[in-house]
Parts: sequence; structure tokens; C-alpha cells
Amino acid sequence: MSGFAVRGWCPDAWRPMVAGDGLLVRVKPRLGRIDQAQMQGLAEAAVAHGNGLIDLTSRGNLQLRGVSEAAWPALLERLIALELVDADPVRELRRTLLVAPDWAPGDDTHRIACDLLARIDELPALPGKVGLVIDAGDAPILSGAPGDFRIERSIAGTLILRLEEQATGTPIATGDEAAALLRITRWFVETGGVAAGRMARHAAPLPDWAACQIAPAAPRPRVQPGTHPLGSVLGAPFGQLRADVLGDLAGQGVAAVRVTPWRLLLAEGAAVTHPALTSDAADRLLDVDACFGAPACPQASIETRRLARRLAPLVSGRLHVSGCAKGCARAQPSDVTVTGRAGRHDLAFNARADAPALHAGLDADALLSLFGTD
Ligand code: SF4
Repeated sequence: MSGFAVRGWCPDAWRPMVAGDGLLVRVKPRLGRIDQAQMQGLAEAAVAHGNGLIDLTSRGNLQLRGVSEAAWPALLERLIALELVDADPVRELRRTLLVAPDWAPGDDTHRIACDLLARIDELPALPGKVGLVIDAGDAPILSGAPGDFRIERSIAGTLILRLEEQATGTPIATGDEAAALLRITRWFVETGGVAAGRMARHAAPLPDWAACQIAPAAPRPRVQPGTHPLGSVLGAPFGQLRADVLGDLAGQGVAAVRVTPWRLLLAEGAAVTHPALTSDAADRLLDVDACFGAPACPQASIETRRLARRLAPLVSGRLHVSGCAKGCARAQPSDVTVTGRAGRHDLAFNARADAPALHAGLDADALLSLFGTD
């Protein structure tokens, strides 16, 4: 398995990561968009070469699960043929771009992302977790999404380059945005940023030309399940899709889907729904994280997703049900966290999965009774 990515490194299709259910093969759609033929092809490939499950990631990518080492080469070839993966592994590695999902052809987000993709070979080698964000709509929509270097709208209405952890950004002239991203990433590498791993941990003084000056505009609300000017927004419970759902959407005439970092798909064209996806912005499952749990994950000691569905209507705030203390589904604290340990349930509040329990060793009925069920 020496050719596969180690845990903690960002996997991609050329360097899949080993997970409990097989290899994870990440797909980074160009501009976050998968057209109808790609949807159909991806659905078929996920079933033929994986276990048919597809994750939506917090960086707006897709992840095919359950791929065997033997099946991986044929899957990779198929994804390259579908133009979902670059035939050059170095270029694929560099395409760590998150784009505002409601871009329109010819708008600033689309223009800048296309400029940058055309110059992607000029991007220096960056640590796998470093991400670039193009969020050039009327106001930022991706403020809460991970990213180290972002182009976004300022309070003055101009575009700025803003670095992670900086409250303000530097104005960039129209047409220079991609060049500014190349310049700042080169500075990052030349000043030791690779060792730091992320911009937030990089202590080097900023270059004079990138001295921050202008605050970003107030964020606009992210898209919500339901109708949208571009079509329909559909939520994937637990951030996971069955491959056939993508195939169904293609079969219903959806021209393309855009992948958002919020477990939502934006289906272009006419209004569309699907029984496996939620069109209800108030659906509690959109605020729930639950890993595979038992029996799918060998490290899990409890079943997670059925339990999460039962608990979701009973708790307020963010719910996390984790099969073990590793907390794969969510690294941050949640309002209510249930963690499996030796086949029992530990309960904590405002906690991560590995935090000490407030109530430890509960069986499922005792846990549910704490939330008012009989
Ligand atoms: S949190 Fe534990 S049980 Fe859940 S997927 Fe990760 S390793 Fe498996």
C-alpha cells in the first residue's frame, strides 16, 4: 500500500487513502460542477469499482468509497476519461480550488477560477490541506468553508485577496486575481509555509504588497434546500449519497449538479426532488454528523446512523454520533455528542467525540430516555 496516501494527508484520485471500508478516491470536479454525462459515468463507476457510496466533502469534492486496490487502476482510468480527474497527477494535486457554487458563466467567480485553472501549472507545490477559494459574488458565501487564500468581495465592492486568520484583505485589480493567488502561494512556500502546513500556522510577516487593508463584505446566507434561481438545492443526510441517486438525477434530466461544501447539491435546471435527498431547509438531519459506525467500520462499537435519525428530532443544536472516539465525521465540538465505547454510549455536551463523557456507559434505551423517549 506504499503508493496510497497516509492518514492526515489529503487524498486524491491518484493517491487514495485507506479507510475501514477500502480505498477513498476523491474527485475534484472542475468549478465544482458535474455535467449529466459525468453524473451517469460517476454513478456507474462508483458501483462497478467501489461500494456505491459517495461522500460530499467540506471542500466541495466527492469521495468514492469502498474501492479495492485491484479495482483502483480501472476506476482511475474511467475518472480520467470522464474528465473528472486530471491525467497528470501533479496537476490533479494542485487543483485544490473551492468555487462559490452559485457562479454564473462569465461572472467574476467563473472568470477568476478559469484564469487560475489555465495557469495551474504555475502553482507551487503546496501542502495537501492548503486550499484556494474563489468567492467573488456580490458578497462572500464561503466564509465558513476551509481555505487558506481567498478572493472575495470587500465592503467597498471591490475584490480582495484575504489570507486565513486575517480579518481584512488586499485590493486586487480586475484581471490580476489569479496572478495574486500565484504570487501569494509562492511567497508562502518561499517563507517556509510548507513546514507550517497551513496559512493559519504560518508565522512569517506578510509581504508589503499583501498588507491587509479592507474588510470583506458581510457574508450572504449559504444556499438552502428547496428551489433556487439556478434550479434546486438538495441535501444529503450525513453528507453521503448512494451512486444511483446521481444516476437518477441525470435520468430526470438534470443538466448538471454543483457540489457545495455544505452537504448540498445544486441541481441545475427545472425543479427536481429525490426521496433520498432532502428539499426541506428545516430537516434536522442537515445538522447531524454520524460516521459509518458498526458494522461498516471495524473500529466502531455502536451502530450510529439509525440512532442519529432517532435522536435528531429530540435534540436541539448540532448532533454528532460517533462509532468511536476518533470522531471521523466531525472534528469540532457539537452541542450533543454520543460516542461509542465498548458497545455502550457515552454522552457529552459542547464536546468532541474524544472528550470526557457527562453520562458514560449507557445502552441505547437509557440514552434515548435522557432525551424524553419512553
Ligand atoms: S469515528 Fe471510529 S467508528 Fe466512526 S468511522 Fe471513524 S474510526 Fe470508524
